[in-house]
Amino acid sequence: MEHTCPKCKVGLTEGQLDHAGPLRVYKKGEGAGLFGPDTKQMDDICPFVCPECGLVEFYVPNPGKFQ
Ligand SMILES: [Zn+2]
Repeated sequence: MEHTCPKCKVGLTEGQLDHAGPLRVYKKGEGAGLFGPDTKQMDDICPFVCPECGLVEFYVPNPGKFQ
């Protein structure tokens, strides 16, 4: 998916977080049970960086999980 910097209007470059293990996000309150939320409800956090001003935006590949 192509993302654009809202200030510079240039394409953002996909980055990678320097983090041990997957860094994921899930809908707040979803599957809050004994074993925690199902990993299928989680989505990866993907950073995109503007090569002009350095702005970082985070996106998930499957935003439909948050509807
Ligand atoms: Zn920018």
